[in-house]
Amino acid sequence: MTEAAAGVEAAGVEAADVEAADVVVIGGGISGLGFASWYRERRPDARVLVLEAEAEPGGYCRTVVQDGFVWDYSGHFFHFKDPAIEAWLRARMPGQEVRTIERRAFIRYAGRDIDFPFQTHIHQLPHDEFLECLVDLYFRPAGDGPPRSFGEMLYRRLGRAITEKFLRPYNEKLYATDLDALDAEAMGRFFPHADLGDVIAAMRPGAAAGGYNATFSYPAGGAVQYVRALLGDLPAGSVACGERATAIDLDARSVITPRRRIRYERVVSSAPLPALARMTGVPHDPAVFTSNQVVVFNLGFDRKGPRGVHWMYFPDRSRSFYRVGWYDNIFDADRMSLYVELGAPPGASLGAEEISALRERVLADLAREQITSGHRLVSHHHVVLDPAYVHITRASLAETARVREALAARGVHSIGRYGGWTYCSIEDNLVEARALAAALAP
Ligand SMILES: Cc1cc2nc3c(=O)[nH]c(=O)nc-3n(C[C@H](O)[C@H](O)[C@H](O)COP(=O)(O)OP(=O)(O)OC[C@H]3O[C@@H](n4cnc5c(N)ncnc54)[C@H](O)[C@@H]3O)c2cc1C
Repeated sequence: MTEAAAGVEAAGVEAADVEAADVVVIGGGISGLGFASWYRERRPDARVLVLEAEAEPGGYCRTVVQDGFVWDYSGHFFHFKDPAIEAWLRARMPGQEVRTIERRAFIRYAGRDIDFPFQTHIHQLPHDEFLECLVDLYFRPAGDGPPRSFGEMLYRRLGRAITEKFLRPYNEKLYATDLDALDAEAMGRFFPHADLGDVIAAMRPGAAAGGYNATFSYPAGGAVQYVRALLGDLPAGSVACGERATAIDLDARSVITPRRRIRYERVVSSAPLPALARMTGVPHDPAVFTSNQVVVFNLGFDRKGPRGVHWMYFPDRSRSFYRVGWYDNIFDADRMSLYVELGAPPGASLGAEEISALRERVLADLAREQITSGHRLVSHHHVVLDPAYVHITRASLAETARVREALAARGVHSIGRYGGWTYCSIEDNLVEARALAAALAP
């Protein structure tokens, strides 16, 4: 018996519960909802059913409104490269205030705030450290052939000092793994590359900050406003929340949930790829799919904190967090509203006790960094994102391509940040969803 068939039996689905849809979409996050919306735009009569395991749609773009604070599941500030995608979303958000903001992001390094990205602002370091970075950048190791890992790529592109002062400690806190285990292209376009010329050019007075996210936009109602924009295009009853797909029978072309069995022409899934492979029984190597977890603490305080900063990176290994962001400085609110992100290795236990201990550590570290000074915490919330950042390796890239191809040949398309086991933004998710809708409904 295949794993999928075993799932059918375990689900105890009766014949009477069998339904049919042209496309079953697994996952009601940005990718799944984007696909459903564009597919129906092209095929208005198609039966498209979105299954969402959680009680509400949105995936990692959900928003929490609590005690007057608006918090996302993590720091979600939006960087759209394609104005058409942002305009398409905004047209579906009538009355929603969206601000476009010039980024103010820093690296807290040895008590100084260095403009982000670190590598093009080394001239803001103390003089001797600046020279050390510059000399090491000039004499960086040439290496032999393409870099074999993310860690090696950092040394070869930016030299020892920049890597050891910021890039290595920061990324090791975030990824919670050895950087030499990651592929050189683990961050793709999100890694702010800079050569010696870029570093020198950035020293000119008034030089632009650069990077993929020099400006960002953010809706007053939080990231979930983009989710609502997508939901608005779907007819009532298209999204079944609280209904997890537990198995897919590839031969019978049926998705099985604890409630029913749904026959399909196609499946589009944004569930994590290894989970989808398990659901379908497609052979795969689970060992290559590793990722970190990110604990996000959303913290509301009784009064304003530092101004003129949107987010800050913390490479110091003695601090619990790798990044802190200020929601209140986007909409000029009068109480400090923070997201604080911590990386954790896969499988690390993050139950109530561990979370409570981590929150205490975070509060102590915020005080040490003088982000708080006598502030009173008046509201808090946390979420554990698992997976958060996938560990992209040569083996994961090859296995992802192979499994996605095998599934697509059976009418199951795996998309999204975790369906593609990749590093991407919501805009990338929308571009991919739109392209798949066009390919399946030409
Ligand atoms: C820490 C962090 C910060 C980020 N910051 C930004 C940012 O600032 N800007 C930006 O553009 N992007 C950011 N991103 C990326 C962004 O969150 C993702 O690209 C996007 O949310 C992914 O959407 P998705 O629909 O592909 O996946 P998800 O949001 O993971 O949605 C998948 C959905 O599938 C559901 N599901 C899973 N399995 C099943 C099943 N078996 N049955 C039914 N439902 C199932 C899940 O419950 C979930 O709702 C960030 C990501 C992280 C981790």
